[in-house]
Amino acid sequence: MKYDVIIVGSGSAGLPAGMYASRYKLKNIVIGAQAGGALATSHKVENFPGTISASGKEIMDNFAEHAKVSGSELLQDTVSEIQKTEDGFLVKTTNKELESKYVILATGNTYRKLGVPGEEEFLGKGVSYCATCDGMFFKDRDIVLVGGGNTALTEALYLSEIANTVYVVHRRDTFRAENIWVEQAQKKENIEFVLNEEVDHLEGSLFLEKVVLKSGRELAADGFFVAIGSDPSIELVKDMNPDMDKEGCLIVDKRQETSIKGLYAAGDVTTNSNKFKQTIMSAAEGCLAADSIHEDMLRG
Ligand code: NAP
Repeated sequence: MKYDVIIVGSGSAGLPAGMYASRYKLKNIVIGAQAGGALATSHKVENFPGTISASGKEIMDNFAEHAKVSGSELLQDTVSEIQKTEDGFLVKTTNKELESKYVILATGNTYRKLGVPGEEEFLGKGVSYCATCDGMFFKDRDIVLVGGGNTALTEALYLSEIANTVYVVHRRDTFRAENIWVEQAQKKENIEFVLNEEVDHLEGSLFLEKVVLKSGRELAADGFFVAIGSDPSIELVKDMNPDMDKEGCLIVDKRQETSIKGLYAAGDVTTNSNKFKQTIMSAAEGCLAADSIHEDMLRG
């Protein structure tokens, strides 16, 4: 069975792309390993227009429902390969092979690693990249969290409701995060800012026990959360040699098409929207990609 468009990624960009593709009556399927993508792990979102405050999961459940009632097929599966064929694409998942005329890549980002000794060794034994996924393991314990962006500050706020003390280690004394999050965190008695500091290494026996900073200061901690941003997930299309910028984002034109004919991209994997990595921007890019494909199909 051949689709008009296969959408790879079921997050902020992929689900709206499916919803719009369905409204244009394009036969489409949205495939994603993790339903809802990255936003589904945000415990609190207060900047999605029309939704004053909600969890990321609530917002993404609505996105998924909207795509589904519009007519998109949703498949929770991992895409292992995307091949360019003579007249389109072959998309392989764990146990399916699907064909389409167009692909929209909406795979978002992969968490950035800090690259310090002990980070790999204590993964799952104290080290985590997702506060909403793993925060509860550290109830009433001490946690070190690294980063100074919106992810770091919102995760610190979330963890402060669970943990004893949350140390926010940031390499500068000013923040990339919105001031509203910084102010809220500064008001929390159990969040301690450790500024102009970097992590040197992690120590422990079976589980993490302490975080040693470059200054020599030691922070006793059971949890270590890395929130230093992410990189675009473009591995599935790398072999096609699409044009990319120096950060590895897919260069797309104003219609969201990459340099590979028929391969569109939307959301955090692209260079569009001035790389303002927000759900509303990703959603808009997804809708635009679907609209552009519809336009291509009308032209024949
Ligand atoms: P980000 O904005 O790129 O911030 C990354 C932070 O990590 C920066 O403070 C950076 O420090 C620090 N960092 C990077 N590499 C480091 C290293 N090797 N060692 C130590 N520190 C390092 O990433 P993000 O916070 O994940 O946010 C990504 C996007 O998602 C942003 O556009 C953000 O607004 C959005 N977002 C929004 C929400 C929300 O509104 N609810 C929640 C999460 C994310 P420097 O500042 O010194 O460079």
